[in-house]
Amino acid sequence: MKKYLLPIIMLVIFETIAITLWITKDNLFYLFNFSYIGISIAFGIFLFIRKYKYARRVTQLLVGLYMLVYLGLICNENMQIEGFWYYLFTGVFEAATIHYAIAKIFGAFIFGRGWCGYACWTAMVLDFLPYKIPSQPRKKIGWIRYITFSVSFLFVAALFLTHVNNIEKIMFWAFVIGNLLYYAVGIGLAFLFKDNRAFCKYICPITVFLKPMSYFSLLRIKCDTSKCISCGKCKKVCPMNVDVTDNSRKRENGTECILCFECVKNCPKDAL
Ligand code: SF4
Ligand code: SF4
Ligand code: SF4
Repeated sequence: MKKYLLPIIMLVIFETIAITLWITKDNLFYLFNFSYIGISIAFGIFLFIRKYKYARRVTQLLVGLYMLVYLGLICNENMQIEGFWYYLFTGVFEAATIHYAIAKIFGAFIFGRGWCGYACWTAMVLDFLPYKIPSQPRKKIGWIRYITFSVSFLFVAALFLTHVNNIEKIMFWAFVIGNLLYYAVGIGLAFLFKDNRAFCKYICPITVFLKPMSYFSLLRIKCDTSKCISCGKCKKVCPMNVDVTDNSRKRENGTECILCFECVKNCPKDAL
């Protein structure tokens, strides 16, 4: 049973969130929503422990499709960063704000960038592309994320300042068009840089929240230096170029780790 402790802990965390929000906000949706996400994540970790090759992809599809299709397209909840700004401006603590608070801001203190590895619907598609292991050195263009972050903020601020009509309808279409843009740019960059996760590394505005928070993450991959033979395989297979053999929080690209466990799976000495 001990080896199944992690999926059980994840399930307990999400059930606690689900029940707390259900009771405090008197809305059954939160019970269903966070239970579903918790079960999907726990199931993925369970499959990983059982050594199923596509365990992470299963969770990515279960959570990503639920958020994109059900919450975004069917329930009209803009779960992009624009939706977060929108609810923040309206002062309503609703789905998109709660989602950001849990998955991308405070949750990152516990599970780092687990969101990026297991739930993001943009990466869900990008991870199907052929460049799982980056074949080129990292580019120094990460500053682009601050531009996309500012543009998303200014776009929603402008909607409020100009008092446009049908703002909810605009937010829905912003979600559809925003996602199509993300996919187009993400796929284009993946082929250009031969790196599936190029969009995550240079463009994604959400990393402005995720990176500083995940620096303090409780859940991290650590290296048993007494077992490590410095073969370099872990760094070679890492989609995010993390130097995982360095246990310090300041390790190279440490705030980029998406907890995909590729390094763990490939370490010949079980040092990770
Ligand atoms: S960096 Fe952005 S696009 Fe990439 S997985 Fe994370 S949230 Fe999704
Ligand atoms: S793959 Fe394992 S043994 Fe090789 S450098 Fe990484 S941690 Fe060390
Ligand atoms: S390969 Fe290891 S260090 Fe790299 S992102 Fe995945 S879990 Fe993190």
